[in-house]
Amino acid sequence: PTAELQALDAAHHLHPFTHGDALNKKGARVITRAKGVTLTDSEGHDYLDAMAGLWCVNIGYGREELADAAARQMKELPYYNTFFQTTHVPAIALADRLAQLTPYDLNHVFFASSGSEANDTNIRLVRTYWEQKGHPEKKAIISRKNAYHGSSMGSASLGGMSAMHAQGGMPIPDIHHIDQPYWYGEGKDTDPAEFGLERARQLEAKILELGEDKVAAFIGEPVQGAGGVIVAPDTYWPEIQRICKKYNILLIADEVICGFGRTGKWFGSETFDINPDVMTIAKGVSSGYAPLGGSLVSDEVAEVLNGCEFAHGYTYSGHPVTCAVALENLRILDEEGIVTRVGSETAPYLKEKWETLAAHPLVGEASVCGLMGSIALSPDKANRAKFAAEAGTAGLICREHCFSNGLIMRHVGDRMVISPPLVITKSEIDTLVERANIALDLAHKQLKD
Ligand code: PLP
Repeated sequence: PTAELQALDAAHHLHPFTHGDALNKKGARVITRAKGVTLTDSEGHDYLDAMAGLWCVNIGYGREELADAAARQMKELPYYNTFFQTTHVPAIALADRLAQLTPYDLNHVFFASSGSEANDTNIRLVRTYWEQKGHPEKKAIISRKNAYHGSSMGSASLGGMSAMHAQGGMPIPDIHHIDQPYWYGEGKDTDPAEFGLERARQLEAKILELGEDKVAAFIGEPVQGAGGVIVAPDTYWPEIQRICKKYNILLIADEVICGFGRTGKWFGSETFDINPDVMTIAKGVSSGYAPLGGSLVSDEVAEVLNGCEFAHGYTYSGHPVTCAVALENLRILDEEGIVTRVGSETAPYLKEKWETLAAHPLVGEASVCGLMGSIALSPDKANRAKFAAEAGTAGLICREHCFSNGLIMRHVGDRMVISPPLVITKSEIDTLVERANIALDLAHKQLKD
C-alpha cells in the first residue's frame, strides 16, 4: 500500500533536493510505471510528464528496444572498463556515433556516468590542456550566476546556485561567476539586444580583472535549464564567442539539457551558432534509460590531451550496457525522425499554444525554445512584479495544482518550466496547455484569497 511505501521511504531514503519535513508531512509520490509521455503512480493516477523526468526522457517512456539492447549487452559483456589501453565494441561504436552527430570537429569523447561527472572531468580537462601547452597558470573557469552544472563539488562550484554554494563550502577555488543573460527578470527597462551585449561583456571584464593569462575556460548552457529555461537575447552568444576567441580561452557548452533534440536541432550549439571547444553531454544521450555522461572535445583539444596520460577516469567510463542503450536511443531518435520533427512541427506548435498562456492574469511572460518552455508568475504583470512572499511560494502552489490536475511541471522559484519528451504529439500538447491553464486559474484564485 502507498502509505506503507511512503513511510519506509521517509524512514530510510534521503532524497535529492527535498526537505525532510515535506516527506514526513505528506509522503513522496510513488511512481510505478510509464508509457509514452504518461506516468502512473501507486494509486493509479496518470500524469502527463511535461518534464521528461528530469529533462532526460527524450524518446519517451516504455521503448522496449532499449531494454532489449541492455539485456543483449548484459548477456554478452556486462562490464568491462576502458582504462589501461583496453576498450570494447559498445564504447567504440558510441564514440564514433557521437563524433558523427556532434557539430564542428567535436570528434572525441571522454565518458562519464552523469552530467556532474562530465563537468568535473571538464575542470581537470581544460586545466590539463593548458598545462600541456605550457600555461599551468591558466586555471580559472568563468561561469554564470544561476547556472546549473551538477551536484558534485566541482560541478556545483561551476554552477551558480547560491543555495547550493551555501552548503558544504563551495565554490572551490578559481571558479568565478558573472551575471546571467536573464532579460525578463534582470533587464527591466533595457533593450534586449543591448542587455545581451552588456551581460556577455561581463565576461570580457572578468577576464581582464583576472588576467587573460589566468583564465582557462568559460562554461555556459546554451539555454539555462534548471535556472528557469532562460533564453539569452540573440546578441549574447556571438559576443561570448568573440570574447573567448579574442582572449584565447576555451568555450565549454554544457549541453546536458539542450543536447539530443531539445532545442529543435541535435545540439543547442547549432541552434545558437556556438562553436565550442568542449561540450558536456548526459541525459538525452541515453534518454535517461541508463546513466551516461560525457565530454566531447575538438580535434585540437584531443591532440593536446593525447600528448600526456590524463590521470582521470571512472569505473563506469564507457560502461558497455549504457553505451549499448545510448546507441539504440540515438538510432531511434535519428531513424524515426524525432529530432527533425521537433524542429519542423512540434516545437512551432508548442510555441503557438504555450504563448497563449501569456494572456493569463498570473503570467508575466511565456517563452519557448524548441521543446523547452517557461512562464514567469507575477502578481502584477504590467510591471513584471515579483511575489512578496519567499520566491517559489507561488511556483510551489502552481506545481501542486498541476499535480492534482494530472500534469507534471517543475517550478524554479516563481517560474514554471516544461521540457516534455520529444515524442509528445500535438494533441498531448493541447492537453498539457489545457491542464496548465486550469492549474494557473486555481493558483491565481488561491494566491488572491
Ligand atoms: N549540466 C546541466 C546543464 C544540467 O541540467 C544538469 C542536470 O540537470 C547537469 C549538468 C548535471 O547532470 P547530472 O544530474 O546527470 O549529474
